[in-house]
Amino acid sequence: MIGSPRGKLAALTIVTVAAIAFPALLAAAWLRVALDSSVPSISRGTVNSGSLEHARMIPPWGPGFSTYSLLGSALGRQYVHANVRDTLIAAFAAHHTSEPERVFATGETGLPGGGRIRPHRSHENGMSVDIFMPVDAKNGTPRRMPTWPWTKFGYALEFDTTGNLGVLHIDFEALARFLREVDTEARARGLRIERIIVTPEYVPLLLETASGRNLGELATRLTRKPAWVRHDEHFHIDFA
Ligand SMILES: [Zn+2]
Repeated sequence: MIGSPRGKLAALTIVTVAAIAFPALLAAAWLRVALDSSVPSISRGTVNSGSLEHARMIPPWGPGFSTYSLLGSALGRQYVHANVRDTLIAAFAAHHTSEPERVFATGETGLPGGGRIRPHRSHENGMSVDIFMPVDAKNGTPRRMPTWPWTKFGYALEFDTTGNLGVLHIDFEALARFLREVDTEARARGLRIERIIVTPEYVPLLLETASGRNLGELATRLTRKPAWVRHDEHFHIDFA
């Protein structure tokens, strides 16, 4: 089919659309960042039923992180409270200093005005974030989580009970270290971590790492019960 004139036309159309769409998405995502308010954010209600005013957009990329999807970013699905954004950017930057090869994929966080963001059950008041797990290749080198559209932008990936998926495995030591970095940066901005959701079978794997043993009070924030979806490929944090 591809050799036929119609096939060639179809292939050319796909390439053309992609070539036009990519810069458009890029521009739309960064335009959202540029248009962000400078007024303090106002978070109302709870993570399960709330709203957000003067939200901030998590940039598509920066030191130590990049978005799960340029489309999701352009559509405005990565808004949070200003203090949450600042906390995350600082925590990614801190992690980047100690582990420069690591690039965390940021997931969905919230809409510009908060409220229901399907299919999530919370993420309503700008205080919830999803971040994809830090993963390594078999030889231990950091890899970015593959968040392609055909895996529901990463959310449909299924890691086994020990944190493996094909050649990738979850780096629980890097995760524990990152959670401490988030905690430090949150406190510096008058926030605290209220809840961390990872799938229950990963809680002991996280706690038995070197940094996991030093989580202290933060260890009590880990949920021990299964959530509405299995949090294997990403973890969720609620701030308060
Ligand atoms: Zn979430």
